[in-house]
Amino acid sequence: MAPSTWCFIFGLIPNAAKAADEKEEVLRTQVAIIGAGPAGMFLAHLLRAEGIEAVVIERQTRDYVEGRVRAGVLEQITVSMMEALGLSARMRREGLVHNGINIAVEGEPFRIDFAALTGGSTVMVYGQQEVMRDLFDAAGPRGIDIVWQAEKVTPHDITGDRPFVTWQKDGVETRLDCDFIAGCDGYHGVSRGAMPSSVLKTFERVYPFGWLGLLADVPPADEELVYAKHSRGFALASMRSPTRSRYYIQCSLDEKLEDWPDDRFWDEACLRLGPTVAAKVTRGPSFEKSIAPLRSSVCEPMRHGRLFLAGDAAHIVPPTGAKGLNLAVSDVTMLAEALVAYYRTNSAHALDGYSARALARVWKAERFSWWYTSLTHLFADMDDFSRRIQAAELDYIRTSPVAQRSLAENYVGLPLS
Ligand SMILES: Cc1cc2nc3c(=O)[nH]c(=O)nc-3n(C[C@H](O)[C@H](O)[C@H](O)COP(=O)(O)OP(=O)(O)OC[C@H]3O[C@@H](n4cnc5c(N)ncnc54)[C@H](O)[C@@H]3O)c2cc1C
Repeated sequence: MAPSTWCFIFGLIPNAAKAADEKEEVLRTQVAIIGAGPAGMFLAHLLRAEGIEAVVIERQTRDYVEGRVRAGVLEQITVSMMEALGLSARMRREGLVHNGINIAVEGEPFRIDFAALTGGSTVMVYGQQEVMRDLFDAAGPRGIDIVWQAEKVTPHDITGDRPFVTWQKDGVETRLDCDFIAGCDGYHGVSRGAMPSSVLKTFERVYPFGWLGLLADVPPADEELVYAKHSRGFALASMRSPTRSRYYIQCSLDEKLEDWPDDRFWDEACLRLGPTVAAKVTRGPSFEKSIAPLRSSVCEPMRHGRLFLAGDAAHIVPPTGAKGLNLAVSDVTMLAEALVAYYRTNSAHALDGYSARALARVWKAERFSWWYTSLTHLFADMDDFSRRIQAAELDYIRTSPVAQRSLAENYVGLPLS
């Protein structure tokens, strides 16, 4: 790692207890952040802005993390966070403000007007790849330390007063002593597993289908997202920019990508979106196609000792409600506030309340994402009664401003409490 990477670390002490051919560095910081996804990088920027030292430890390369095609819709709180951190210039130029969404039921679209229903709230379409690029580009100039390609990252002594994180890189084992560890390493990370199973409780719903997604450099079908509930299954016409579109269709979990050449995908998406939207679909060659399983999962608590979980490390939502990245941002906003309070006032009160405060918002987003998924997808075990109820609920939303307001309020994002 470059020497400048370590400008905010207090010490570098070789460990004499190791054998001569084994190298170990011992470093120190205030907050060790595991994972350089949205949760880890927003937290690093928030802490840096308050003069709190942090080191981010990531097992992948920057290109890998930045290249992952994932979220595309930013809630107000995420947009405000980009503004507050001075990271919004490109988002303001290139992002697309959306005042609403469309829902097509068996081919008939209607619109939910967020701005009118919520007193002016909107969402921003700006891809997670762009958000990550902005976070990474600003990290170096701001002195945020990121260790890339760290192997065997492990949190230690999380219930003691002196936790630390170890990892290996280029044959060197590094130990980072710290006050706190932020586990921002996503669903497949190591942090959640460091909490004893006697403490951790997981609540989970696995959906019996996935989303087959396609990315193509073609103009979007509509200025806003179109969610489609169809008797053949769910579809979504989304976008990343005025020239780049993202489409999804509900698929079975054993579906194979090679069985979905572009023409078949476009035919199926257009069928589910219905003739009005299909007439506006521009087809083109895909440059990315993938299948993502859908899952709802929450682990409680989000803190054990000096280890704090944030983002996908603690919870997963199906992408229907566009909440995953936004929840990561709201978690670390609360965590950063609590850490700042600790370092400013020496009070652990806010840290003690972090898990309960974050979970209160997480569960509301989980509820919305589950509900919106249930409303718009086809479930193999649905009987005629369930289908009628689903149709009635969609018709209620189509015709009732009260029902629309509830959907709009949740979609644009509930406030931080
Ligand atoms: C296909 C898809 C579509 C999505 N669409 C949306 C959407 O429209 N809207 C939305 O809001 N959300 C969406 N999401 C969810 C969103 O992408 C995630 O919720 C978000 O990335 C969570 O951020 P995070 O930082 O918590 O976790 P992650 O983004 O998973 O980042 C965790 C980081 O930790 C690193 N890491 C893991 N293990 C270790 C380890 N042992 N040591 C060190 N580092 C480690 C990983 O490499 C990764 O960089 C989507 C997700 C997928 C998969």
